[in-house]
Amino acid sequence: MPNRLTLSELVRQLAAREVSAREVMEACLSRVREVDPHLHAFLSIDPDDALAQAEAADRRLAVRPLPDDQPLLGVPVAVKDVIAVRHHPLNCASRILGGFISPYDATVIERLKAAGAVVFGRLNMDEFAMGSSTENSAFGVTRNPWDPTRIPGGSSGGSAAAVAADECIASLGSDTGGSIRQPASFCGCVGLKPTYGRVSRYGLVAYASSLDQIGPLTKSARDAALLLNVIAGHDPRDSTSVPETVPDYTAALAPELHGLRLGLPREYFIGGIDPQVRRAIDAAVSQLQALGADVRDLSLPHTEYAVAAYYIIATAEASANLARFDGVRYGRRVDGADPVEMYARTRGAGFGTEVKRRIVLGTYVLSSGYYDAYYLRAQKVRTLIRQDFLNAFESVDALITPTAPTPAFRIGEKAGDPLQMYLSDIFTLSCNLAGICGLSVPCGFTDAPRLPIGLQLLGPPFGETTLLRIAHAYEEATGWHCQKPPPTPTP
Ligand code: GLN
Repeated sequence: MPNRLTLSELVRQLAAREVSAREVMEACLSRVREVDPHLHAFLSIDPDDALAQAEAADRRLAVRPLPDDQPLLGVPVAVKDVIAVRHHPLNCASRILGGFISPYDATVIERLKAAGAVVFGRLNMDEFAMGSSTENSAFGVTRNPWDPTRIPGGSSGGSAAAVAADECIASLGSDTGGSIRQPASFCGCVGLKPTYGRVSRYGLVAYASSLDQIGPLTKSARDAALLLNVIAGHDPRDSTSVPETVPDYTAALAPELHGLRLGLPREYFIGGIDPQVRRAIDAAVSQLQALGADVRDLSLPHTEYAVAAYYIIATAEASANLARFDGVRYGRRVDGADPVEMYARTRGAGFGTEVKRRIVLGTYVLSSGYYDAYYLRAQKVRTLIRQDFLNAFESVDALITPTAPTPAFRIGEKAGDPLQMYLSDIFTLSCNLAGICGLSVPCGFTDAPRLPIGLQLLGPPFGETTLLRIAHAYEEATGWHCQKPPPTPTP
């Protein structure tokens, strides 16, 4: 079935007319009908719109030579519910945006469409991207295709589950503290968080603006490179996007790693890591050495402060960003006797528990009297964390860590304990605080149950080429990324 293909293989087959865009789209839709009632990766899909886009792609595919500027012609790509797609729902898995339809395309969507992709579906997530399990969605949890009693990770849980279950060819997610990489690791796909400024956030609903990035979730490193080629680049509508030229990210993919220096940050290998995760990472390190990489230990001394600094900075920014959802301009409104009562009722009914917790936390750390003690100190810690990475990248080309300390946990296991949930992000948060790039690539499985494990690669600002090269060589040597979950998720 063509929905099972990687993006790069699909592009080849479409060009060779071995399959049509319509056939691929139909295969994805039929897979969604088969498994999604149970997995719930999608919040909604407009099949007519998807098929119309696929047919338009087929008309262009019929004309030779094929256009050079449409590298994704006919490829179905699904989108996290936090990224605006014109005339489609944009709910951020929140009740407060219930019924809201986006009037415009995010820049990444404009670029995908211009490249010929078939953009379809709204993927489930934690409400406003706040969470690590997709349990905070106002519309129900997404299940992990490898074991439906478990969470798919979060917040881009729908994006990872849909790719892993072959409901789409690739997807877009967003990553503020790990939301692309951690679900990619829990579902056995590749997830890339680009450098801050690499990809435009115009049309991404803001969670924590100094941390948010959009990135691809895919079935291989090459696929991630192909998607990044399309979505990366400067955008005058996002003042934080950087006018740095976009290389061809597939150009450096090679089967070996000779001359590459990799660092193992000591602080990521102490206690608390599941022994099976540890074993898989150790084996991955040996494999990378066998591919020619030179691996050395090093230290990122401020790592232990990352969780605290992140949850201060992210909540502070969230409390400001979410002030706009007040019942006046967007989504739902619950009327009150006066405007203040209307705001309170709207926000009280519209936001879920975790979002409210973060707004309260964020308002607290920014309030006069506490600002210096919390927010200002967290910003100073952030500078130290960034400096740790910049120092490390003077002697190595990339860092290797586990993506998460454990495999996917059970639905409900951490839902009642926010602190345990926050701690599960321990290995992914620093990357966003430092503004560097990070990638998760499948590196094996636990024994019973059989759950995917992710290897995290961290690179310097604009070091995506290096991360993709490492992940690709590793994939070629191991084939972990080719493993598929059981064909039908059993309840
Ligand atoms: N789990 C982290 C949080 O809840 C990261 C989420 C994200 O990257 N969007 O903030």
